[in-house]
Amino acid sequence: MKRLVFLVLALCLTLALQPAARPAAPVAGNVLVVTLDGVRWQELFGGAQPELVDEKIGGVADLDNTRARFVRPTTTSKDEARRAAMPFFWTTIATKGQVFGDPDHNSAARLTNGLWFSYPGYNEMLAGHADPRIDSNDKIANPNVTVLEWLNGRPAFKGRVAAFASWELLPYILNVERSHLPANGEGAPIADPRSETDRLLNDFAADIPPYWGATRFDATTMAGALDCLKRDRPRVLYVMLGETDEWGHERRYDLYLDAMWRSDRFVRRLWETAQSMPEYTGRTALIVATDHGRGADAKDWTDHGRKVPAAEPIWMAVMGPDTEPLGVRASTPATLSQIAATIAAIVGEDFTSSSKEVAPPLPGVVGSIKSSSK
Ligand SMILES: [Zn+2]
Repeated sequence: MKRLVFLVLALCLTLALQPAARPAAPVAGNVLVVTLDGVRWQELFGGAQPELVDEKIGGVADLDNTRARFVRPTTTSKDEARRAAMPFFWTTIATKGQVFGDPDHNSAARLTNGLWFSYPGYNEMLAGHADPRIDSNDKIANPNVTVLEWLNGRPAFKGRVAAFASWELLPYILNVERSHLPANGEGAPIADPRSETDRLLNDFAADIPPYWGATRFDATTMAGALDCLKRDRPRVLYVMLGETDEWGHERRYDLYLDAMWRSDRFVRRLWETAQSMPEYTGRTALIVATDHGRGADAKDWTDHGRKVPAAEPIWMAVMGPDTEPLGVRASTPATLSQIAATIAAIVGEDFTSSSKEVAPPLPGVVGSIKSSSK
């Protein structure tokens, strides 16, 4: 027994004295990607903007309630206001990972598609480059190969890529006819219900009103994605949430903020669920981003698109075992097109090899752990 204790102690000492080597290849075998449609950098970095918490400008129904939940005194740091809107993002992702797009840190992140609405944005993000052919939100199969389709074509990822959306355009953006990716954007969130819980979730989703038509409430999408993570254990899971954009268009700043908060809660649940599963613990990265911004003044904060250039700046964040905890990145401009190659790099693949047009991964996100810092 004594001999065993000695051996264990000796082993621990040996390990402790060895310098931590820089990982040769990424540690993360899996990646979760969540987008919040049309969330402005103003709220992401600064929380609720008090001038929009207004009956007229923001269509806020209950001023006292909205102020109590989201508005913080301007005398305190903007940290408190943004933490009220997205607590998991600012207490966990921003401290353990990296955040791109803060203009206050000389780090504006932007779109390169010049159109500032959704299909061009999601194409840019998933194909790794803007494409002038994608100039509407029409149901047209994407001519570009997205990083999800490309990964699904690699032996190690075959059948291990899944995507869920609140927007019915997802199957077109991923060109499911060609890619054969499971892309759930409308209807029952669980395509092949196997348990009583699966059937209950599908029934419940069918009972939620189809308020916007093309976009369903995020609760359905969230339920489907969480079920997929637990049941099918994909290596790459993409979840496109949509309510933030819809409430913005409806000039309901209170519900836009509430949708941000619920999206943040979903990201936490997705992350914590993954961390509780052996396949994912310590081997999973998380990317959170948006597809476009919105207008910047009292009139057009609700809007985005060709006539709203203020919608070009965006934001994005990455957290995972290979990503150094640098927090809000300074003097590091970035573009949405860099997400595609970042998704691949996180799982050890080089998407830039697929086409000269593909933008490089976000700088300093993968393999950036310094040997002396840990
Ligand atoms: Zn929109």
